[in-house]
Amino acid sequence: MGRIIVVGTGFSGSILARKIAEECDRKVEVIEKRPHIGGNMYDEYDEHGILVQKYGPHFLNTNKYWIIEYLSQYAELFPHDTHLLSFIDGEYVQLPFNFRTMQQLVGAKKSEPLLAKLREKFRGRDRVPIFELVDSDDEEIRAYGNLLFEKAYRTYTAKQWGLQPEEIDKSVLERVPMAMSFDARYLNKDFQYLPKKGYTEIFRNLLDHPNITVTLNTDALAHIRFNDEQHLITYDGDAVELLVFTGNIDELFGLKYGRLPYRSLDIHYTYENKKSILPEEIVSYPQADGYTRSTEYKKITFGLDQDIPVSMIATEYPLEYDPTDEKANIPYYPVLTDDSQKRYKMYLEEADKYGNIVLCGRLAEFKYYNMDVCIEHAFQKFEAIKKRLENKQ
Ligand SMILES: Cc1cc2nc3c(=O)[nH]c(=O)nc-3n(C[C@H](O)[C@H](O)[C@H](O)COP(=O)(O)OP(=O)(O)OC[C@H]3O[C@@H](n4cnc5c(N)ncnc54)[C@H](O)[C@@H]3O)c2cc1C
Repeated sequence: MGRIIVVGTGFSGSILARKIAEECDRKVEVIEKRPHIGGNMYDEYDEHGILVQKYGPHFLNTNKYWIIEYLSQYAELFPHDTHLLSFIDGEYVQLPFNFRTMQQLVGAKKSEPLLAKLREKFRGRDRVPIFELVDSDDEEIRAYGNLLFEKAYRTYTAKQWGLQPEEIDKSVLERVPMAMSFDARYLNKDFQYLPKKGYTEIFRNLLDHPNITVTLNTDALAHIRFNDEQHLITYDGDAVELLVFTGNIDELFGLKYGRLPYRSLDIHYTYENKKSILPEEIVSYPQADGYTRSTEYKKITFGLDQDIPVSMIATEYPLEYDPTDEKANIPYYPVLTDDSQKRYKMYLEEADKYGNIVLCGRLAEFKYYNMDVCIEHAFQKFEAIKKRLENKQ
């Protein structure tokens, strides 16, 4: 039996490490290049006792209750519906865009017939992507779709992705649909939770197993080599039995087909001597210059924080990912375009040449996974890994 190495301590790496250690009773060496575990879900308390998610706000939301049960083994979760506002034309309007937003943007009386039309046209549909409004055969629906598109989607997309909406994969904009109701929950999944003491506790407990060792501050790429004769990947010269890689696939292969584009975030923190700064926990600013949204972490009901006399907002300035730039060296969101998907496939074919590697996660698979999808996907990958390890015994 050879070494089993897992690169990365986000959900993908941590879940796979735990399952291999526990269910296959194998030793797992986990390598992480950052000084902490948890990947982009890492959070920590600041000097005022506010729990800050260092890489942007994360809300656990899923239609699958088993995901909540699974995570509850590792930390206490509490129900939490996320609420956002958008600042458009100098006013706070409802986000998700819903019937209330329509009343706010075009007036309650004026929007009445349109509201009835939308109800009729999209009967039985909870949320509808903006494109369906913009492409509607009904002139009024189309006009409202275009208004929303121009005031919010176009400008937000340009900042968030560095692209015009036409250039980006439709699935990306479909993530921010319009609610066909007055439902004010940002997300419309059945189960919405947050961990009481933060996400980092989940990762700490996941990785706390006698078969797991974690090494931080270590870039695995400095240790990984490719043996093209035997079609194997080695780590420190050892032909490892299994390498689970959850980092950037293009960096693993020395960028031989060019860099896969990611967006990064430069997050600015502003403290004020006030109990409250924003009218909601998150406000998005589609029309602002350079920044997309601000989060007031104190409002993300972590309970104990509420009496703190100061508050803080974290404002996100999107940038192109560049590992050499200290403001933009974390890959946050894969930029899905025709070209980037083509290039990703070339990297995937490269990985297929080696028998001892498993790619998992949003960086290795160049996909925008939400937490619940990421967890479910790691479970699926584990089933294949288990079979493979059992067959070798
Ligand atoms: C700003 C933001 C907000 C989000 N909000 C939500 C939300 O509200 N709800 C939701 O469900 N999902 C949300 N997500 C998605 C969620 O963050 C992901 O599903 C999850 O973090 C993916 O985990 P992962 O393990 O695949 O990747 P990551 O968390 O990126 O983990 C990869 C790990 O690998 C490490 N690594 C990479 N290369 C190397 C190397 N060469 N050597 C060693 N270590 C390496 C990295 O440092 C990192 O720790 C959000 C994502 C972002 C960016």
